[in-house]
Amino acid sequence: MSKRIAIVEDEAELAALLDYNLRRAGYETRTMGGAGGVLKSLEEFKPDLVVLDVMLPEVDGFEVCRKIRQSAALGRIPVLFLTARADEVDRVLGLEIGGDDYMTKPFSPRELVARVKAHLRREEMDAEPAVLDIGPFRLDRNARRVMHGERELSLTSTEFNLLEFFLTHRGHAYSRDQLLDSVWGAQHYVTPRTVDVHVRRLREQIEEQADNPKHLTTVRGFGYRFEEGD
Ligand code: CA
Repeated sequence: MSKRIAIVEDEAELAALLDYNLRRAGYETRTMGGAGGVLKSLEEFKPDLVVLDVMLPEVDGFEVCRKIRQSAALGRIPVLFLTARADEVDRVLGLEIGGDDYMTKPFSPRELVARVKAHLRREEMDAEPAVLDIGPFRLDRNARRVMHGERELSLTSTEFNLLEFFLTHRGHAYSRDQLLDSVWGAQHYVTPRTVDVHVRRLREQIEEQADNPKHLTTVRGFGYRFEEGD
């Protein structure tokens, strides 16, 4: 599931350049010009990181960051400021504002993408263990490998993400739409039927009998549930 990056920048050319480079790096992006309602747009988009220009036309980037820090929905997401002046840097990183990093214009988009990656990696490592040892499964997030007992599973990227989701959300029933939202994110070309196809393939890998599953069971008229089994 790709991470989401919000780009709050009123210079259309720069916003487009950042958008292009971050998308190419595999992120889902949304650009916001920084006119009114930035916070609402951010809460709607739920980004994993915000690239935030200091000088915006209607609001001050500092003010936006302060509101992000106060927002329950956005919480502690990393904020990477874009500044035009070196003397803004102290304020950006000060306790009062709570930015995580900054780049002084002009900067190379490649450097920005590298910083974004580093911040997201740090967040991930803080939040989740690299290896999940659950029942017969051992999933290594960094290596993106899964062992089932002594056997290594051969999973596509989506199957890996789906199994990772189930391993971390055991015992609950999820509808196909909930699975689409959580695992596929905002890819518009997938349908609930896509979930069934991937569940079937995953079962072939993780179940002794794919048509009589022990781990990944069908919840009739609703969706699927995962149990770690024994
Ligand atoms: Ca600006």
